[in-house]
Amino acid sequence: RTRLAELAERARRQAGEDEAAIFAAHQLLVDDPELDGQVRQAITAEGRTAAAAVAGATEAFAAMLEQLDDDYLRGRAADIRDVGRQLLAALLGVPLDLAPEEPSVIVAHDLAPSDTARWPREKVLGLVTEAGGATSHVAILARGAGVPAVAGVAGVLEAVAPGTRLVVDGSAGRVVVDPSSQRQEAVRQALAARAARVEALAALRDLPAVTLDGRRIELAVNIGKPEDIAAAEPFGPEGVGLFRTEFLFLDRSRPPGEEEQWQAYVAAVRALKGRRLVLRTLDVGADKRLPFIDWPEEMNPALGWRGARLGLERPDLLQAQLRAALRAAAEGPVSVMFPMVATVDEVRRLRRAVEEAAAGLERDGLPWGRVEVGIMVETPAAALSARVLAAEVDFFSIGTNDLTQYTLAVDRTSQRVAALYDPLHPAVLRLILEVGRAAEAAGIWAGVCGELGGDPLAAPFLVGAGLHELSMHPRALPEVKRVIRGIRYEEARALADELVTLAGGSEVRRRLRAFLEEAGLDVEG
Ligand code: PEP
Ligand code: MG
Repeated sequence: RTRLAELAERARRQAGEDEAAIFAAHQLLVDDPELDGQVRQAITAEGRTAAAAVAGATEAFAAMLEQLDDDYLRGRAADIRDVGRQLLAALLGVPLDLAPEEPSVIVAHDLAPSDTARWPREKVLGLVTEAGGATSHVAILARGAGVPAVAGVAGVLEAVAPGTRLVVDGSAGRVVVDPSSQRQEAVRQALAARAARVEALAALRDLPAVTLDGRRIELAVNIGKPEDIAAAEPFGPEGVGLFRTEFLFLDRSRPPGEEEQWQAYVAAVRALKGRRLVLRTLDVGADKRLPFIDWPEEMNPALGWRGARLGLERPDLLQAQLRAALRAAAEGPVSVMFPMVATVDEVRRLRRAVEEAAAGLERDGLPWGRVEVGIMVETPAAALSARVLAAEVDFFSIGTNDLTQYTLAVDRTSQRVAALYDPLHPAVLRLILEVGRAAEAAGIWAGVCGELGGDPLAAPFLVGAGLHELSMHPRALPEVKRVIRGIRYEEARALADELVTLAGGSEVRRRLRAFLEEAGLDVEG
């Protein structure tokens, strides 16, 4: 436990709260009564040594998780093995510290989170593993600490001998073995350019995102839990544009009550100190299923019972969440937004649900605050009806992730058709433009909270479409701000009108690159 507490502390310093939480979870595993019971049983009933008992129990637990269907839970097998290995090392009195002596790229079949956190950051130039994927904890830790990492490289241990030079390109997910001297020089130059860019971006932290001709854009961040706000502060967010509240509901057998939700929401409001929190109501269904909901059999769950559709039929869940949100709004600005809306009728019913929650709180004599009520625009129907819907809501936030999948009829979770998934397809852009213009005509604000909002290449289009707010992963913020500060709104407007007429996504990209080049801006990737 002491060692895990130290690791948590080090991870907090080197990477952040998210990363420290991994070791807090490991501490829970050490205390897990099930695991503890099995170890005791093996010692007392089967006469095993403590070390054998720990090895057997953790391996059995990990093997059981590996059988599950859920990617996330399968990934946790590595955590259990990590805890087992550390217990073993403590029991046997052997050191676990395999830190490299010289700054090195680490190549391994798999890495335990404790390895990655224990090694001094300056000794690890990069990580390459055969196992794992983007959601493994090693990947999360590497991302948090800014270490380039590529996971899931089959056969790399065979192909690479100790001492080999490697280029680890975490952004492209590529490993180059034995690079030529020109390649090495190119990489050195790219790294120097990036370092200079990071420094220049840090200087932008407290400057507003405003175009050369004075159009102000609000740059916000997407979060999954209140603690993410503190981690985002170094990037200078002006608010939270999307709080995905699902996190409170996942991995549990019963839904969180109003009180627990209120605590999470008010924590976010307090952390924001007067900046706006856009809270999205529970968006489950499709690929996110909760054990305490009775799911229908559906051939196409992404087109099925999800988002606000589910909320409207489960007033118990919706009311608890809305009451918690309204109570949090007593302490700072909160906007509530509903996912997966397609019709005006839904919006009216959802607004009534908000009024009902307010009336209930009033009756109960609890403090609450007024909230803006908006919708995510993530169905083509909502985008095409934006002019009608604008009269019913206070704001729009475009969910380009789902809007792209529904517009192009390309499942966002399918690897097989991933090449067809393109948020810069002119058809998607045309819908975004329509939403921007409709919001403008109605005098309400509109933003983007899908991944496209954090794409610096897309920024001229989104600004030109008349959007007022872009919400994104915190690390994307400085680069998007740099682009906005280098372009003219008037030119971006003309560009947006032109882009929707182009033939395809590649034409759109080419035109956007040319636009940025003319503005003297270069964009990575
Ligand atoms: C979206 O669809 O663009 C979005 C922001 O929501 P999510 O990714 O959570 O579906
Ligand atoms: Mg969505």
